[in-house]
Amino acid sequence: MCAARRASRRLSGARAPSAAFSTAAPKSPQRGGRRRRRGVRVGYEAPAGSATEEAATEAKQQKWEPKNWRQELDNIREMRKARDAPVDQMGAEKCFDLEAPPENKARYIKQTSAILQRDYGGDIPKTVAELVKLPGVGPKMAHLVMAIAWQNVSGIGVDTHVHRISNRLRWVRRETKLPEETRQALESWLPRELWSEINWLLVGFGQQTCLPVSPRCSDCLNRGLCPAAGKSQEAKRSGGGPL
Ligand code: SF4
Repeated sequence: MCAARRASRRLSGARAPSAAFSTAAPKSPQRGGRRRRRGVRVGYEAPAGSATEEAATEAKQQKWEPKNWRQELDNIREMRKARDAPVDQMGAEKCFDLEAPPENKARYIKQTSAILQRDYGGDIPKTVAELVKLPGVGPKMAHLVMAIAWQNVSGIGVDTHVHRISNRLRWVRRETKLPEETRQALESWLPRELWSEINWLLVGFGQQTCLPVSPRCSDCLNRGLCPAAGKSQEAKRSGGGPL
């Protein structure tokens, strides 16, 4: 079976953790017919010397890792063991940007179909670099496709949940502003064998406990370890925004 067909079958009904990506895809900063593709910079394209590249390289060289990450990860596994978050009920067909205008999706699908026929013999590309060149495909989708179509875990799928929680738990050495920066920061220290699991774990955790607004810190097993525990409520009381 060709990879395109495998991807299509998995994308239309995937249930495995490795294929479970959030419905809350990172919002596109651009609306009204244009998506974020032009602004996407994938890690391997980061210019040498950029702040993101430097932070990732520094972390690798100095073998930096978050202080309590193993305990925090075990706690999240414990909190996720029921597998009853919305992400557990849905497959990768939900990983596209739900807020993207329908006409854009149709246009991207038509354009992509033509490109795949013309340049890839009706199959799909085998590299992230080629995948992100397709209309409407960003790094998150590219890494997902690599995992489910080519059985190649090429990177961590980082959506808004993974991005937010990684910053709250300080799983990034320096605060990151964009999911793509978070992906590079996580990949600099997180053992590769966990790259596939981490998305599924954190997305469900973000849907049930570490909510975007008013996280349920009092119910969280990480409340004694997490630097952000209770801070969202404090920020609310003092008139600040959610962490
Ligand atoms: S303590 Fe609160 S902010 Fe920290 S991981 Fe748990 S729910 Fe999220």
